Amino acid sequence: MSAILIDGKQVAKDIKAELKQKVEILREKGVVPGLAAVLIGDDPASATYVNSKARACEKLGVFSEIIKRPAETTQDEVESIVRELNYRDDIDGILVQSPLPKHLNEFAVTLLIDPRKDVDGFHPHSVGCLLLGRPTFRSCTPYGVIELMRRYDINPTGREVVVLGRSNIVGKPMAAMLMQKNKMANATVTVAHSRTADIAGVCRRADILIAAIGQPLFVKVDMVKDGAVIIDVGINRIEDPSSEKGYRLVGDVDFDACVEKASFITPVPGGVGPMTIAMLLTNTVQSAGRRAGLEE
Ligand code: NDP
Repeated sequence: MSAILIDGKQVAKDIKAELKQKVEILREKGVVPGLAAVLIGDDPASATYVNSKARACEKLGVFSEIIKRPAETTQDEVESIVRELNYRDDIDGILVQSPLPKHLNEFAVTLLIDPRKDVDGFHPHSVGCLLLGRPTFRSCTPYGVIELMRRYDINPTGREVVVLGRSNIVGKPMAAMLMQKNKMANATVTVAHSRTADIAGVCRRADILIAAIGQPLFVKVDMVKDGAVIIDVGINRIEDPSSEKGYRLVGDVDFDACVEKASFITPVPGGVGPMTIAMLLTNTVQSAGRRAGLEE
């Protein structure tokens, strides 16, 4: 039997429609949510990400500002941009687009972001609160995975979840969210990575398999348990001469084979991908709600 497709595009659309209503309520209270994105250098992928975040804000009635500086910008200059944004009343969320040029210390910049505006959830304060089970901004991609599962009634409680990948922005916070003692968590979590022995055997234990390793089509059908839920975070370009662009996007999972064995599966594109911006907007609107006194 073929798995149910998890339609991240639709869920992201639903979330944005819900947020739009919240933004209207905030506006009636005189609060316009604001997101600032700091973009240093001229990496085209970074520029594309930042522009699409700005466009998403615009559609929702969220104020957005892109602070663009050349690649030669110094550490002091980036830090003073962040400090200034911390103090601005019209800015509820600050994101510094990664990667920064090599001469800049990204961690030092992240440390300067006011945790109350850390809508990316990357500040150690946010990460620490996440681990401790305290309310905090959650890293947008894993937060999006939780939200997808919630909206498809996939409850991880008591289930074996295997997270492939241990990056600071996806794998680690994903595992931290799922092991919490709360709803949409309470899972038994295993984190696998490039040094994991018998990764196929580890994957086969998973009731819910979350792949975030950046290796095209890595998860083969014989690594998947019958009826498993498969969440594919990976976004990889592979050559495809038949496509106009010469490439196509695939996930970390061999979708065509695994769709026949899984109970639920996310496609790539159109699965987890669209959720990241939706959750960034969610965090930003929540932050503005706090400014308006509507949220704690
Ligand atoms: P990173 O490169 O930061 O981390 C990759 C992780 O995968 C590492 O922990 C690495 O292990 C592990 N890994 C790599 N190769 C293997 C392998 N052959 N076997 C087992 N583990 C392996 O990647 P990210 O977490 O940033 O991204 C992962 C994927 O998710 C990418 O395809 C990225 O494009 C996508 N992504 C999608 C997003 C979205 O949908 N919006 C957002 C963010 C990422 P080790 O630690 O041992 O090196």
